Amino acid sequence: MRVSPATTNHSTSTLFTVVSSGCQVGSMPAVVQTQTVALNRLSELFKRLGSAGAKILSVTPVGEDLHPVAIAASAPAPEAKPKPVTQAPTPKKKAHADVPVNTYKPKNPFIGTVANNYSLLKDGAIGRVQHITFDLSAADPELNYLEGQSIGIIPEGEDAKGKPHKMRLYSIASTRHGDDMGDNTVSLCVRQLEYKNEAGEQIYGVCSTYLCDLEPGSKVKITGPVGKEMLLPDDEDANIIMLATGTGIAPMRTYIRRMFENRERETNGWTYKGKAWLFMGAPKTANLLYDEDFNSYQEKYPDNFRYTKAISREQQNTKGGRMYIQDRVLEHADEIFSMIENPKTYVYLCGLRGMEPGIDEAMTAAAEARGMDWAEMRPQLKKAHRWNVETY
Ligand code: NAP
Repeated sequence: MRVSPATTNHSTSTLFTVVSSGCQVGSMPAVVQTQTVALNRLSELFKRLGSAGAKILSVTPVGEDLHPVAIAASAPAPEAKPKPVTQAPTPKKKAHADVPVNTYKPKNPFIGTVANNYSLLKDGAIGRVQHITFDLSAADPELNYLEGQSIGIIPEGEDAKGKPHKMRLYSIASTRHGDDMGDNTVSLCVRQLEYKNEAGEQIYGVCSTYLCDLEPGSKVKITGPVGKEMLLPDDEDANIIMLATGTGIAPMRTYIRRMFENRERETNGWTYKGKAWLFMGAPKTANLLYDEDFNSYQEKYPDNFRYTKAISREQQNTKGGRMYIQDRVLEHADEIFSMIENPKTYVYLCGLRGMEPGIDEAMTAAAEARGMDWAEMRPQLKKAHRWNVETY
């Protein structure tokens, strides 16, 4: 394939968005199609589109949607000169101006009331994880939030220096409508932090213990909401790949409820039609969070929701080690890559920071197998808001 000087500035792994029209997909009528491929696979795509009789409208480096690159490919070449994309090829996430942020600050928190607080774990699970719901109905101004945001909690009491405790952030686990769809609650999914210090003493986290022990009716200082990294795109056709460990499931639960929970679908005015794929990492089956809900969505929407579990202390990876989600990512790397080549696909990671290198390794190997360079691709996806990470 010959490329114009504009494209030669890019490496073979640079991703391009190709918009074409007139291509028949199965028995479907002619459509405008948008695909993402690396530079070194453009030629292959042109051939495929050419033999299907498609017309290429534009070729644009990912993240530079407004500056389509002029192309000159060998036969079967795209017809005529590529035109600028008139409709945005990549669905945009919510404009940041619409996102509620810091309605309540630490100096002036909202005092919420605990509506309920129950365990999410089954018998035999490790540790303690609670689902905690706060009533926000007294908030003036209202404490509105979106899926993917966090709120702050200021625990009662003082630290070792006698100062009031500082605020801690927690990912929200309920949709903007709340678990009861009343538009006036927010829920969290909280693990009680516990570890042994250097002296061998058992230490419990200050705020997580405070939250896990709360009784219904208790008053709690709440701040926020904050966070714009993990917002869902508005596009009902977007594909969403979710990689979560432990309580990192919180934002994923909000997305999945918004997509598949009956009452959400009936009332949220957003009818999800894309493909959602959840990879969930937990130490034991008894530690899987919201597992029944996810199983039931998968049963009800088999074409739209897929749920893959990595149960580290019950399953083994191919090397005989603990099964982590990066091992599952590696198993399905080809499919994940094909999905990522579609510009409507967004990836979200939440949970342990330790999973990131493993996931990068899995993606690097998968990219290499396709002659691509993950280290170059990832920043491009990030720039296009398609690789979203919130890990602690
Ligand atoms: P957990 O229930 O203990 O589960 C964590 C799972 O991840 C276990 O199966 C664990 O395996 C596995 N794991 C351990 N090391 C790993 C690695 N390097 N790569 C991949 N998987 C690994 O989890 P948790 O205690 O709830 O922890 C969740 C973490 O997410 C916490 O650190 C929390 O602060 C963070 N979090 C972040 C956000 C956010 O950023 N917004 C929100 C919620 C939670 P083994 O233990 O069997 O080795």
